[in-house]
Amino acid sequence: MKIVLLGAPGSGKGTVAKELVKDLGIPQVSTGDMLRSGVARKSDLGLKAKKYMDAGELVPDSVVIGLIDERVQHGDCRNGFILDGFPRTIAQAEALAGITQLDKVINLVVSDDIIIRRLSTRRSCKDCGAIYNLVTFPPKKDGVCDKCGGHLFQRDDDKEEAIKNRLVVYNRQTAPLIGFYKDKGLLSDVDSARNPSEIVADVEEVLEPLG
Ligand code: AMP
Repeated sequence: MKIVLLGAPGSGKGTVAKELVKDLGIPQVSTGDMLRSGVARKSDLGLKAKKYMDAGELVPDSVVIGLIDERVQHGDCRNGFILDGFPRTIAQAEALAGITQLDKVINLVVSDDIIIRRLSTRRSCKDCGAIYNLVTFPPKKDGVCDKCGGHLFQRDDDKEEAIKNRLVVYNRQTAPLIGFYKDKGLLSDVDSARNPSEIVADVEEVLEPLG
């Protein structure tokens, strides 16, 4: 099954993707994670992407399209994948249509004020990528991942100025994808203003008929 998770930053794409990986046995393909790993390794890609990411801007289409084109050829994507954070522009969606055929696009719907609250209290594990929230899903021990004992950190782009810019960028460049995929009959909305288990249950209900 080939799925896209669409939604503003903080709408729950990463959290939902991680649950779907367990249930569907297909990989999460996150351009954000791939780019962050490039930044951490100081690769050419990371060095190119960092200034855009820190400012909450989008990395150029050609860079992320190249990443995805290569990634979905890997053997683990044979039975499908969950795209998290790609596509983010119409040009990326058009390029993706030339690479593969999608089964479903899930649009995670949530208001801006909930997003700002969620992102400014989000913490991620440096080692395993687990996602926490200081208010709604805190780790048992401050700053330490429950799953692997790794260090929890706040992403640079989860600070207030970058969050506001990411929302502006989302509304301008990514929100048009809702109409794009609706017109193709691929889109289903899921209310993402609830807790993760309720959101995941709704997403799985949408995906069930696809087998
Ligand atoms: P994410 O983890 O998905 O919120 O992505 C973090 C940052 O990586 C974004 O704010 C962008 O700077 C960059 N990024 C991730 N995916 C894309 C994409 N599909 N197109 C352009 N930039 C991206």
